[in-house]
Amino acid sequence: MSADAPSTRGMLCVVSPCYNEAAGIRAFHAELKRVLSALPGLDHRIVLVDDGSSDGTLAVLDQLAREDACVRVYALSRNFGHQVALTAGIDEARGDAIVLMDSDLQHPPALIPELVAKWRAGADVVSAVRRRTADAGPLKRATAALFYAFLNSISETHIVPGAADFVLLSAPAHAALQRMPERHRFLRGMVSWIGFRREFVAYEAAARGAGESSYTFTRMLRLGADALFSFSTAPVRLATRLGLAVAACGMFYLVYILYSLVAHPDSIVPGWSSLIVVVLILSGVQILFTGLIGEYIARIFEESKHRPLYFFKQRPEDRTPRA
Ligand code: UDP
Ligand code: MG
Repeated sequence: MSADAPSTRGMLCVVSPCYNEAAGIRAFHAELKRVLSALPGLDHRIVLVDDGSSDGTLAVLDQLAREDACVRVYALSRNFGHQVALTAGIDEARGDAIVLMDSDLQHPPALIPELVAKWRAGADVVSAVRRRTADAGPLKRATAALFYAFLNSISETHIVPGAADFVLLSAPAHAALQRMPERHRFLRGMVSWIGFRREFVAYEAAARGAGESSYTFTRMLRLGADALFSFSTAPVRLATRLGLAVAACGMFYLVYILYSLVAHPDSIVPGWSSLIVVVLILSGVQILFTGLIGEYIARIFEESKHRPLYFFKQRPEDRTPRA
């Protein structure tokens, strides 16, 4: 259904953010080109987004665009971060299917034919799931595993561990993602949230082709916070439960004191019990009301994300060619 492809061939659009990848981007492009040229029945386009690199990446990208008419280069005005650079690419991408992937060869282009095969078989979202990363230390792996377990225990959207931002989206799934205007973006969660028919393909992440990872510890923390707060309102709801629990303790204690007053009046220390009861009940009520205010804030937050209420998987007028 692509307006740009007058032939019956489909259009596959690969989107890659690039930040300080000058040393490795040519190797990435060469490998990508080798794989994409061999895809039967599909034309391709490569959208490269320079995320305010400071090492001359943009010059290399411009050179690539001159050599290869399939390459489109977009340059952000400064470094906005991986998720925003990806979003810019998603906004600019056109095609019957798009593939999001890193430009450091950690997402092997050789996997693209498998993603395309699943898309042709009817899937709308095909996520590549990382089995192992060659250069991730045990600490990064352990913290990631722990974080995903915690996130999934409180999040309303299931987020598949290892399914990072290496994913193929059909045109309807692509359109759905474009309709999510939220500012704090955790794309792998958003890809889970949109629904549609989803399939998975396993791969082993290689070590970086060149350069080094720009995900420092603080950037990981920030991404983690975006994941937590964008996909769960559990933390703010915790206060309601805690407040109820504390107030209930106060109530039970009050009953116990009244009983003791009758059963063993000598065991009562004057003043102490009433003080504890008042402190427990009042602080319980305070925490409870913090939680209630939190409920409203959670709702305001949900509204302010302006996410669409629903997406259609099928409409009478839709027909997506996958040949
Ligand atoms: N990236 C980006 N902007 C940034 C940081 C990274 O566009 O501020 C790109 C980078 O060029 C690469 C991808 O995002 O294509 C993943 O980044 P990186 O390899 O540093 O992360 P890691 O693989 O270690 O998670
Ligand atoms: Mg990487």
